[in-house]
Amino acid sequence: MPRELVLICRGCGRKVWDDIGYLWVDTARVADVGQAQRAWEAEYRDGLMDMLDFLKYPEKVRWQAHHLACDPASEDSHYRLEARRLRTRADLLGWTAHLMGKNWLDCTDWSELLQESRQVGKQITPARPGAALTPF
Ligand SMILES: [Zn+2]
Repeated sequence: MPRELVLICRGCGRKVWDDIGYLWVDTARVADVGQAQRAWEAEYRDGLMDMLDFLKYPEKVRWQAHHLACDPASEDSHYRLEARRLRTRADLLGWTAHLMGKNWLDCTDWSELLQESRQVGKQITPARPGAALTPF
């Protein structure tokens, strides 16, 4: 199956065509954001809040693509999806189904990443020009 999607390395800006890169998320930050989200939700359980309170909602943790050599963190504890296992839209759908079983997925920007995967030049981008217009 030809590659439909390519990761764009956040470090060097080049495509991750091969098996020496991955998409990853910082699991320690995910745990912190989850705790902060629960605290925020407990504080505003009654729904009484103003705009400043609303803006205090913890920011989601970003998924990032890197070549192994470009990864500034490179922690073993980070959750990684290897580039070789993220080649097609079917792979992306399979990973989405898998990640939906994780109670921390909502602490990350996975849904934004899915939206961006349809646009050329984003972190996970169509492999062929014009493929962004292909129905997903
Ligand atoms: Zn790189």
